[in-house]
Amino acid sequence: MSTTSIDVARRRSAELEHDLLADPGRFRVLTGDRPTGPLHLGHYVGTLANRVRLQTAGIEVFVVIADYQVITDRDSVGDVRGNVREVLLDHLAAGLSVRDGSGVPGATVFTHSAVPALNQLVLPFLSLVSVAELQRNPTVRAETAAATRRGSGAAGPNGLLLTYPVHQAADILFCGANLVPVGQDQLPHLETARLVARRFGERYGQVFPEPEALLSAAPLLLGTDGAKMSKSAGNSIPLRADEDETARLVRSARTNTERRISYDPVHRPEVANLLLMASLCCGRPPEGLAEEIGDGGSAALKHLVTESVNEHLRPLRARRRELAGADDHLRAVLAAGNAHANEVADATLQRVREAMGMTY
Ligand code: ATP
Ligand code: MG
Repeated sequence: MSTTSIDVARRRSAELEHDLLADPGRFRVLTGDRPTGPLHLGHYVGTLANRVRLQTAGIEVFVVIADYQVITDRDSVGDVRGNVREVLLDHLAAGLSVRDGSGVPGATVFTHSAVPALNQLVLPFLSLVSVAELQRNPTVRAETAAATRRGSGAAGPNGLLLTYPVHQAADILFCGANLVPVGQDQLPHLETARLVARRFGERYGQVFPEPEALLSAAPLLLGTDGAKMSKSAGNSIPLRADEDETARLVRSARTNTERRISYDPVHRPEVANLLLMASLCCGRPPEGLAEEIGDGGSAALKHLVTESVNEHLRPLRARRRELAGADDHLRAVLAAGNAHANEVADATLQRVREAMGMTY
């Protein structure tokens, strides 16, 4: 992604931020996660809190728990049932209101595998994108390289990894979402969704609005090993961790040997990342926190991070503990979300069939 296109996306996002507050009814958001593990602090500051904010502003939200995408870069689905439950709990604990079958309005939380008509859209959509375009997607290229390094799958990266931006286009377009909150790494996928919407319209008549990216201002958090915090890398601070576990994880985080703490993201990325975590949780600038700690070294820094993270997540974790026992409620939420997603997807697929002349 060139800096110019990121700048353009950033400027457009600023306009959208203004528009969505002025007229939230015009927007529908699609967002989601792969159920590869419980969500972590990076998700909370990066996406989860923003989802709740958009809903609170009055925007309708669809959340896909992308179970089929688990197997884009690994051979086994793992504990997919358990992970779907964890991801759902994280959303509820973060304060998202969800459709639960009681008639009260809320976000639609659904899983890919339960919505056949959504997946069927992938077939005509794939015909609108060339193999070369799929291979050029920078995020797919990076993830393909990572999958190759890990040696996942005897035959190398699989076809689902190459085509998952088209699957994501189906996630966005089936529900008519016109706003997709993304990090920079997701911008190319949104371009694919826009391309699919446009080309479908050119070939068969307009069915889908072109969705727009709402670029996240949140930074990417690093994990305890200094690499990107990631739910399947074992380097995260999970939202569900308790306070002692959080302290232990923060203590294990990599820092460097220089005692005096300073905020220098370029030369001291791990220290800067810890300062950023504390800053995002306590609402004070990282430079000021670094100055206060000064010669206290990494022990004082880690103490501050632990305190800030635990305090910030305390209400969320309390809600999470309460909800964790409510199995019937969790099942009802997924059943209601999947039922609604199916209604919406069936209607969209019918329009697609009509546009393509495939009604028999
Ligand atoms: P996995 O290990 O399965 O790839 P992940 O932790 O990378 O999981 P994803 O489901 O791939 O999480 O990411 C979903 C979205 O969450 C990303 O597009 C990004 O916006 C946000 N996100 C993920 N990790 C971080 C992070 N470390 N810091 C900030 N935001 C993050
Ligand atoms: Mg990831």
